[in-house]
Amino acid sequence: MLPGFDDQLRTVLDELQGSNRYRSCPEIVSRSHVSIRLADSLPLVSFSSNDYLGLSIHPAVLQAAATTLSGGLSAGASRLVSGDHPAHRDLEYNLAQYLGRPAALLFPTGYQANLGVLTALLGPGDVVVSDALNHASLIDGCRLSKADIVVYPHADVQAAELALTNVDPNRRKLLVTESVFSMDGDVAPVRRLSEVCQKAGAAFVVDEAHALGLLGPGGRGICAQERVQPDVLIGTLGKAFGASGGFVVGSQILRAYLVNRARTFIYTTGLPPAIAAAAAQALRIINSAEGEDLRGMLASRVSQLHRGLEMIGPSTPIVPWVLGTDVAALAASSALRAAGLFVQAIRPPTVPEGTARLRITLSSKHTADNVQRLLQAIGHLEVCAPHLVEKPRK
Ligand code: PMP
Repeated sequence: MLPGFDDQLRTVLDELQGSNRYRSCPEIVSRSHVSIRLADSLPLVSFSSNDYLGLSIHPAVLQAAATTLSGGLSAGASRLVSGDHPAHRDLEYNLAQYLGRPAALLFPTGYQANLGVLTALLGPGDVVVSDALNHASLIDGCRLSKADIVVYPHADVQAAELALTNVDPNRRKLLVTESVFSMDGDVAPVRRLSEVCQKAGAAFVVDEAHALGLLGPGGRGICAQERVQPDVLIGTLGKAFGASGGFVVGSQILRAYLVNRARTFIYTTGLPPAIAAAAAQALRIINSAEGEDLRGMLASRVSQLHRGLEMIGPSTPIVPWVLGTDVAALAASSALRAAGLFVQAIRPPTVPEGTARLRITLSSKHTADNVQRLLQAIGHLEVCAPHLVEKPRK
């Protein structure tokens, strides 16, 4: 072992500790619906999961996974090497149908979908215009592509337009945004961004990770709601679908191009077939009356929380409670934990400096009582520690 190797790493970890930026994964002893038990704690109501519809524990979803599992756990290799399992093809066909596009391609995670798309579509000499609050996977995809990156202020259509029109018309251009932003829960102006892209001759790429299955007609997302057809639509199976994996929908040509050019598809083991089968079952639920009911229950909890916090803004299940300093966010999180609630603190670099926050995520499995408890605990903090908390942004 290289002498001093661990010491170098420890220095970095000590610095993180010193600046309240050290992270570790809480150890869960058991979990059922939105109730979790951490080591050394009583059951907590979790407001820190993206399993928005509770599909990760839906009996039909689990059954679909179990049935397919008997055929083998692994995809065996890259799908280009070991071949497509029927569950891969079935899920891709049904995702494309659901979203009204000709084709879909699965990736092992949403992170890899974003990385794969951006590095396949962009290269040196190209220009990518990216929202300031885009997810790390989009940022990393832009950086790895070696294209020139222009970051526009969050959701600022004029700035995005200016960035695109400033580019030499001979260069390839692409604009990338999330539809529902993962740490703020707000919604991108996709229609106006799409118009700006059309005018400037730029490709339009939208990551709908936090919208698909939840928002828009039948849960088809913000682009469907706004009647916008991006060149590339990206989703994840790890949130509303309650499974794991990522996908891209678009034209047949786009799919074939990605199969040939997206390194995060080519050089990695395919999505486990049992997960694909589970996600296909989740999609059937999302696209059914039961899915409508689940979205309805979630919407009731969202409006209950919004009303309680006197928030106005888009009704998405992500509610940021911005506290500013890392210390304040950590203290608020542990105060809520003491009250039986699991709401994780989100600190920079996940969010911009000075905007550390609690990120509250709601699920259709939360009861009105659960949300009431959260509101009471927040109210209690506001009375007992007003220096610590302030009203949520928006
Ligand atoms: N895009 C966004 C907007 C996300 O929030 C996330 C996950 N937090 C991803 C992509 C990555 O998805 P996955 O978890 O499937 O890798």
